[in-house]
Amino acid sequence: MMLKPRNFPLWLDKLEALKRRLSPDHRRFADITQDHYYNKAGWRGEKELDYQLDYLVAAEDYVILQDLRLKGQLGREFQVDTIIIFRSFIVVVEAKNYRGTLYFDQAHNQLTQTYENVEKGLPDPIAQVKLQTRHLHFWLAEHGYPPIPIHYFIAISNPRTIIKSSPGYTEAIDRVIHAQQVNRRLSELQLTFRNSVLSSAELQRIGNDLIAADQPYDRNILEFYKIDRNEILTGVPCRECKFIPMKRVHGSWACKRCGAASMDAHVQALKEFSLIFGERASNRELRWFLQARSPHVVKRLMEKLDADCQGEGKARRFILRF
Ligand SMILES: [Zn+2]
Repeated sequence: MMLKPRNFPLWLDKLEALKRRLSPDHRRFADITQDHYYNKAGWRGEKELDYQLDYLVAAEDYVILQDLRLKGQLGREFQVDTIIIFRSFIVVVEAKNYRGTLYFDQAHNQLTQTYENVEKGLPDPIAQVKLQTRHLHFWLAEHGYPPIPIHYFIAISNPRTIIKSSPGYTEAIDRVIHAQQVNRRLSELQLTFRNSVLSSAELQRIGNDLIAADQPYDRNILEFYKIDRNEILTGVPCRECKFIPMKRVHGSWACKRCGAASMDAHVQALKEFSLIFGERASNRELRWFLQARSPHVVKRLMEKLDADCQGEGKARRFILRF
């Protein structure tokens, strides 16, 4: 059963919001556009793996957990894409959405991707997942679980991607597969690992312990890209033509470019504010961001949205939850 499905990544939402709020000639615009592209491709790859896992028919109990961030050996954090726990073994699957031809080079622990005649070096995901499995072994021992075999796969989500490896690189040959093969390979593993290590109750307990230990990481995107808040474009965006800013006229928002009017266009702006700056905002900050004329306008808009508040007077903050 699926115990913890993955959510749409918050970081991808943040990248989208930031991209919309930077001028295309901003010094970081190209980097952010590229990071956004790769993050989105990664998300699509994970969804393709999920689609395949929907068909998982196991002869025994299993639980699936996705998108976990845990503390492993030496207190170091590690992230796992997908963990499938059976009673006799565990499988860690890392989805990769790579196109073109991949060449896994054992001597240099490197992956070379060739796409549209451009060759690019990437870190070898095999080394990455092996480290995750080491951390996971450590985590399980630390939480009092019996030793259990941990297997792993790198699932390439694009069925047209060609996978090659240096001769004798058995891990690349065995463990790097197309996402479409995952179910068949899991069935094979069920025949290999027949001795149950965990009871059904323990299986559930591991799943619940992992969820309890999950520490989602919430980075501040402005700090990450070293962008000052004054570089962010302010204003309420027009839903029809994307123009920023709309103007507040007689209690609604008006677009001076396409003439559209909206009662709730500020909701999108508030959502972007919370992704870029965080969910707590003063009246002054929102007035600046919405380009509202007075504190009363902000107060009224937030009252209509039934937004929670914390603090009094100057320390008063609206809590933006979307
Ligand atoms: Zn417009």
